[in-house]
Amino acid sequence: MGRIAIMAAMHEELAALLASMPDEQKDTVAGREFWVGHLEGREVVAVLSRIGKVAAATTATLLVERYGVDALLFTGVAGGLGAGVRVGDVVVADALLQHDMDASPIFPRWEVPLYGRSRFEADAAMSERLRAAAADVLAHADTHLGAQALAGFGIASPAVHRGLIISGDRFVSTAAESGALRAALPDALAVEMEGAAVAQVCHDLGVPCAVMRTISDRADDSAHLDFNAFIREIASRYSVAIVRRYLRG
Ligand code: SAH
Repeated sequence: MGRIAIMAAMHEELAALLASMPDEQKDTVAGREFWVGHLEGREVVAVLSRIGKVAAATTATLLVERYGVDALLFTGVAGGLGAGVRVGDVVVADALLQHDMDASPIFPRWEVPLYGRSRFEADAAMSERLRAAAADVLAHADTHLGAQALAGFGIASPAVHRGLIISGDRFVSTAAESGALRAALPDALAVEMEGAAVAQVCHDLGVPCAVMRTISDRADDSAHLDFNAFIREIASRYSVAIVRRYLRG
């Protein structure tokens, strides 16, 4: 088994991962700190993705070209769009799309020019393994997080979903905007700011990738509430437990 990249969108998630790595070494390239070491006996490179499509694409490209990773796992939070996708649930991507890509009328809306497609698939085997790892962790969510933390955020029986994740350079925080996205892309389960860019880089470079997102908000007018507390108390703990479970196989 080769070297796997773990891209975390949030500082707290990365910190939780680093706390579980016994031997990581820091290497700074392009202003990013790449942590090379091991987790669950696997060779990993952990790094903060940085926020937004261009920043995440640069990070993903460096992981493949400089660090020679042969698989890429992304973990972060997202706004829930799909009916039944609730705060505290986890979404694993089947495919990813840039919702703010629009070169119409020259190209169909959402199509990435010169690719002939709007959707970039996540690797099916990695995604299924990630879904299984997430389901296993969520089934024991109270032992990973504590019943009090879950109750504090109103999380009762968290679920794992698999499907379309959409990305754009906007934090979606009004009911009007999330409603418009839901109407335009009815199969979208979650919205975030990096995944589709990473999937496009992985497509170009021929490296399999998988993306998981813990739902932190419903991308509506209350999307900013308790965001940081949620990352600290829920998302980063899920993230490290799911990534470790994934790596153990
Ligand atoms: N306060 C945060 C800012 C997070 S930006 C900080 O200081 O770091 C939002 C991040 O969460 C991005 O990585 C994005 O992918 C994800 N995200 C969560 N909810 C989102 C939403 N409703 N719309 C877009 N991105 C969202």
